[in-house]
Amino acid sequence: MLRVHDVHKSYGKISALQGASFDVAAGSIVSLLGRNGAGKSTLLSVVAGLVKADAGSVHVDGVDVLADPRKATGLVGIAPQYTGIYPPLSVRENLEFFGELSGLSRSNRRSRAGSVAEQLGLSGLLDRKAMKLSGGEARRLHTGCALMHRPKVLMLDEPTVGADVATRVQIIDAVRQLAADGAAIVYTTHYLPEVEALEASIVIIDNGRIMTSGSRAELVQAHKTPGLELQTFSPLPATLVGALRAVESSPLCYRIPDAALADTVAQLTSAGIGIESVQARKPDLESVFLAVTGSSLVEAEP
Ligand code: ATP
Repeated sequence: MLRVHDVHKSYGKISALQGASFDVAAGSIVSLLGRNGAGKSTLLSVVAGLVKADAGSVHVDGVDVLADPRKATGLVGIAPQYTGIYPPLSVRENLEFFGELSGLSRSNRRSRAGSVAEQLGLSGLLDRKAMKLSGGEARRLHTGCALMHRPKVLMLDEPTVGADVATRVQIIDAVRQLAADGAAIVYTTHYLPEVEALEASIVIIDNGRIMTSGSRAELVQAHKTPGLELQTFSPLPATLVGALRAVESSPLCYRIPDAALADTVAQLTSAGIGIESVQARKPDLESVFLAVTGSSLVEAEP
């Protein structure tokens, strides 16, 4: 349904995308994972026709959307990172306004607003002005606006930032339902449990390049690196981090290769650094991300 091929985009001297390619089939969810500045928002904006690529191609349902960005309007929905709802308008008016922008007829807008609101738990708030919504409700409305015209490709850029658990669950359920109805979905997040809840395929982007892609199981299998997690009472000096091939995954928490344990204990003891705990590391998406990009996604969370 979505085919992105060899897309390049620079902002002056900054190469935001350096040949990004990936596909999303109808009815499936792809989670685009990358650190801050990796190029995710730029990639979504190119697909939505909001940013012009320097080179490459994007096809949605066979339509070349870079050649004719206006054609993307009806096919693609995007909920950008920053909420773009209109505070003086009610929830219903916001939904209908975005429906109108995407070409929905008046009667379709009205009925669609009702079902999108229901899907996102906003039915009781349809007549409330957006400026009087809580942060989580505003997030859900922002996502709802992108769903109004039932796009064939839906892109959600960190839709759950700042959301509480209930809002996260509602957004994730709505996204899964849309995929079940046949949409191709691209979902960016820094929150890995969401990727698992979505049962999404994963595309990892770093420095504007797609580093790897696949299902969670495939990536964990391909990139599992046995290792240990070490919790210390004080930070390791950089020289010791390098010597032990340790990676700091969070403050005072270091990942080290299995074989380095004896050496690590000896070196930390002679450096007077106390060890709080050592445990085996279970391969997970976070360790995949670390293996592929050399840094932690969680650490990169704003
Ligand atoms: P985040 O997780 O922080 O949202 P991201 O992966 O979405 O990051 P982008 O916003 O696509 O990353 O940015 C990719 C690179 O392009 C960064 O170096 C960023 O500073 C740069 N960039 C993005 N938009 C612009 C712009 N309009 N002008 C100049 N540089 C930009």
